[in-house]
Amino acid sequence: MAIVVQKFGGTSVGDTAKIKNVAKAVIREYRNGNKVVAVVSAMGKTTDYLVKLAKEISPNPCHREMDMLLSSGEQVSISLLAMAIQEAGCPCVSMLASQIGIITENVHSRARIVDIKTDKIQKYLDDNKIVVAAGFQGITLEGEITTLGRGGSDTSAVAIAAALKAQRCDIYSDVDAIYTADPRMVPLASRLGEVSYGEMLELARVGAKVLHPRSVETAKQFNMPLRLRSSFNIEDTGTLVVGDDEMELHRPVTGIAADLKQVRIAILRVPDKPGVAAKIFGTLSENNISVDMIIQSLEEDQYNNIAFTVNESDLTNAISVLERVRQEIEASEIVVDNNIAKVSLVGAGMVDRPGIAAGMFNALADAGINIKMISTSEIKISCLVAKEKAENALKSIHTKFGLDAKELQSIDATE
Ligand code: ADP
Ligand code: ASP
Ligand code: MG
Repeated sequence: MAIVVQKFGGTSVGDTAKIKNVAKAVIREYRNGNKVVAVVSAMGKTTDYLVKLAKEISPNPCHREMDMLLSSGEQVSISLLAMAIQEAGCPCVSMLASQIGIITENVHSRARIVDIKTDKIQKYLDDNKIVVAAGFQGITLEGEITTLGRGGSDTSAVAIAAALKAQRCDIYSDVDAIYTADPRMVPLASRLGEVSYGEMLELARVGAKVLHPRSVETAKQFNMPLRLRSSFNIEDTGTLVVGDDEMELHRPVTGIAADLKQVRIAILRVPDKPGVAAKIFGTLSENNISVDMIIQSLEEDQYNNIAFTVNESDLTNAISVLERVRQEIEASEIVVDNNIAKVSLVGAGMVDRPGIAAGMFNALADAGINIKMISTSEIKISCLVAKEKAENALKSIHTKFGLDAKELQSIDATE
């Protein structure tokens, strides 16, 4: 019997009626003769609500306690889904990550999974039970509760699928497919039938939150067939994420995405001498703060300005460590710009086609949008623009590269 892992996101389990609907999708897979593990996220916007509660208590809450708090959301949804499945007459058991043994590194708020114990899940599956597993959470070898970062339930599902050597992992969401852009921002986004791991990984990394980046990374590593499909229309088979060499052609442009959760930090009048960049970025890295785009302005009077972007959740921490570095390197000032968005264009085939970057800059110019920073790699180009221009920027780039669908997409979202 094949093992199938299904994952249901927050909107899919947003209320008890939706939980009963999810139970039907799980039971259908089970009655088809499969052993089923269903991984679920917290109900609706529970995790956002828990974050809000914490912020009412402290502007910079301790990461350990945040993990303790946020992991509680998934305990509610797994127990309710297990009850709904039992109520429909199927044997089922819910499990927290600590009960399964989803072992992560000892880092709070964005831990990586290092190992998944399969013995307990396997025993339940052998007893013909459906297992409902909590997404997003993990436990360290020392017994500390961790979380995998926002959106991390996708990664829990793929990692469990890989550990159990499942036949496939289906991610059920509130959209029916992966599109060339977020259909909530670009209503003319086109549906993609297939996308390669590499393309999807890059799209996810630059902000397409439809899949958590590490879920795609893990699927690629284990060659796990991954499908994104709708919770509200389970007949629709959605989009298959496939091996990079299984793609018939590498599209010059696969899709676009925006990241609205970055902030730009500029350190002004940094003395132009060896070692200062190493000091700044070394300190950030020691504090586990990832830096994305970096720009250093032309040297003037033996001083530079260095600007870079970080995730907004790292801002408070970054400023406090950078203030010490600023004094040490004798730079003049730290300036923060919150009003930014990173828009990116992704395409595995863009490397051999000149003119893609120029096309993107033209699209932004046509829309009258100023570019604040640029970064490029073999398969993506990113531009930083003002936050309120992000949607227009995406629409303009989407049209420029001929990605627009003939008709408006109606997404299944019920919100
Ligand atoms: P879930 O709760 O099911 O995990 P998410 O909200 O995390 O759902 O992800 C689904 C959302 O991702 C969609 O509602 C859509 O707005 C957004 N999204 C962003 N980029 C894309 C894309 N390229 N294709 C489809 N959906 C996208
Ligand atoms: N509940 C978590 C979040 O909202 C994990 C997830 O939904 O994937 O980020
Ligand atoms: Mg998600």
